Amino acid sequence: MILSDILNDLHITNQHQGTSTGLSWLQGGKETLSSFSPVDGKLIGSINTTTDDEYNKVVESSLHAFATWRNWPAAKRGDIVRQIGNTLRSKKSSLGQLVSYEMGKSLQEGLGEVQEMIDICDFATGLSRQLYGMTTQSERPGHRMYEQWHPLGVVGIITAFNFPVAVWSWNAMIALVCGNVCIWKPSEKTPLTAIACQEIIKDVLTENNIPEGVISLVNGDKHIGELMANDSRIALVSATGSTQMGKSVGVAVASRFGKSLLELGGNNAIIITEDADLNIALNAAVFGAVGTAGQRCTTTRRLIIHESIYEQFKAQLAHAYGQIKIGNPLDQENHMGPLIDKAAVAQYQHTIKAITEQGGTFIIEGGVLEGLAFESGCYVKPCIAEVQSSIEIAKKETFAPILYLMKYNTLEEAVSIQNSVPQGLSSSIMTLNLRKAEYFLSTNGSDCGIANVNIGTSGAEIGGAFGGEKETGGGRESGSDSWKAYMRRQSVTINYSNTLPLAQGINFKL
Ligand code: NAD
Repeated sequence: MILSDILNDLHITNQHQGTSTGLSWLQGGKETLSSFSPVDGKLIGSINTTTDDEYNKVVESSLHAFATWRNWPAAKRGDIVRQIGNTLRSKKSSLGQLVSYEMGKSLQEGLGEVQEMIDICDFATGLSRQLYGMTTQSERPGHRMYEQWHPLGVVGIITAFNFPVAVWSWNAMIALVCGNVCIWKPSEKTPLTAIACQEIIKDVLTENNIPEGVISLVNGDKHIGELMANDSRIALVSATGSTQMGKSVGVAVASRFGKSLLELGGNNAIIITEDADLNIALNAAVFGAVGTAGQRCTTTRRLIIHESIYEQFKAQLAHAYGQIKIGNPLDQENHMGPLIDKAAVAQYQHTIKAITEQGGTFIIEGGVLEGLAFESGCYVKPCIAEVQSSIEIAKKETFAPILYLMKYNTLEEAVSIQNSVPQGLSSSIMTLNLRKAEYFLSTNGSDCGIANVNIGTSGAEIGGAFGGEKETGGGRESGSDSWKAYMRRQSVTINYSNTLPLAQGINFKL
């Protein structure tokens, strides 16, 4: 990978600031945000962050743009999103590499993330012709009732570092076809991939005369996110990140009666029954725990294994961990890259210490890797600890490749362990037994937003509604009818009779 070629292809230059038709990002502030790659510790680039004044201008410009954009027919908006998807296709390789280099995930996962953006563009394009309302029967004669959906206005999108581009597109592409305008506040840890996205779509917006302010970017740390959460001009704040962030955003948005869509932390488990296909279970567990260096919201953090196969599976797992190659994620020989930064490494070390203090035993030891290949200081060993399901540390999400093994006897017990954490994002069961699978999926089963059978917890297709319960925040993004979160519902009743009958038969005469 030659970084300068990639940045050139993505049009990221020293002058990446300013506004253009349809799109604006302002970075005239004096504060600088530097992006260092966790891959080799090198500075990729620095940008000026958005000031409070500039933030206000962006919101005003967005409000202005909304007045026009909402009147574009939905199918025409969908055509813009279709063109964005095509442009992303042409830049998949460069953007995928930059995602991998700035965030540290493997190249395959970086490319997969851009593919997810393309997929959601296709989905949103089709959706633009399917924003259906329902009709119902009125109880009054000569009356017609139906529901229609209107856009909300300005949608604020706050995203996390681990999916630096895909989560924006999940939100933005759906919000756009619904007639909203979007302001994106990306993670301060991955600002350049966000700028690359704006550059990629710029020509589409200019060529189609999209009003300035339909798609905007504001850069900065959590202060900008807090401005958005407290800003009553922003109708919906869709926030992806830690539960701690979600608590703050959720309260701020609710206190002004705004809408929020929260996608927060997970603590995902795979239940491995005695009648599982253990090859599938092994692959799913290893990819789920080690992929993206354990920095996915859907990362597998807990394996709940039937006692009769526990020792056998533990040995297979230990053997598989021995094969994992750690190193530069752009080298396709490697399975696992670095953590995002040294603060994440410190958190990983803190959790390892807590596991031992709380009685856990490591069957695969962790540790920070040293040497020339690991000079960023962000590479760690994936580790596995045997623990009691009740220990406190296993109920927390540590964004690192730490896997807990737990033993169970009955399926009811396994499900109870699986549900005993505060988070409720992704879950799975490995079984070839229909009764066990259906129990897991029944109302007595998994309490998570995502429940898989013979698939790991990690990753999802864009066609389903994505999100989780409890401390994961309850939001749903992406496929299915998630679009309804980006619109307001209006119940319409039309009286075409020549009288005014009241509902519930109420009699009122003058
Ligand atoms: P983070 O919470 O530190 O930051 C996420 C974003 O929120 C950043 O843009 C940050 O600047 C902003 N932010 C932080 N505090 C804020 C506040 N008080 N008000 C407004 N904005 C604020 O998270 P992170 O470390 O970037 O990402 C990792 C977390 O994200 C993990 O917990 C992971 O599980 C979660 N995540 C969840 C999903 C999901 O769909 N459920 C997807 C990806 C990541």
